[in-house]
Amino acid sequence: MYIVSACLLGQNCKYNGGNNLNEEVVEFCKNHKYVTVCPESAGKLPTPRPPAERVGASILTKEGKDVTDAFVRGADISLKSCMEMARISGEEIEGAILKANSPSCGIGQIYDGTFSGTLTEGNGVFAGMLKRLGVEIITEKEKIKW
Ligand code: SF4
Repeated sequence: MYIVSACLLGQNCKYNGGNNLNEEVVEFCKNHKYVTVCPESAGKLPTPRPPAERVGASILTKEGKDVTDAFVRGADISLKSCMEMARISGEEIEGAILKANSPSCGIGQIYDGTFSGTLTEGNGVFAGMLKRLGVEIITEKEKIKW
């Protein structure tokens, strides 16, 4: 079973109320078992919501509001729900396809906290949790390897 960022499948859960529909990811999901997650929605952040980026150990909105707790709670809930889905289905988590550069779902590179579209090394909150568990993660920008 694969974990997929919901916005990549067209769910309008992105901060601005839109999505990040990706046809390759949609095609992949036609032939593989998957579970969708939106950690920010799971953390009860509204949609639309102010954009937020990682600043040091915290996640701050553009206006400077600290939303770290909601991000961490949402990531935790999402992780538990993926594990529960896998358990119920009798499947292993085989990998994750997550939205690049997001403060929740990004892996390897995320926005740098200046809200200027600049990237820096780092992982989103949810992606970091998955990585620590040893889950293989790719983003929609990479060729799907599975
Ligand atoms: S938290 Fe992840 S799934 Fe939700 S909108 Fe952001 S990138 Fe997409």
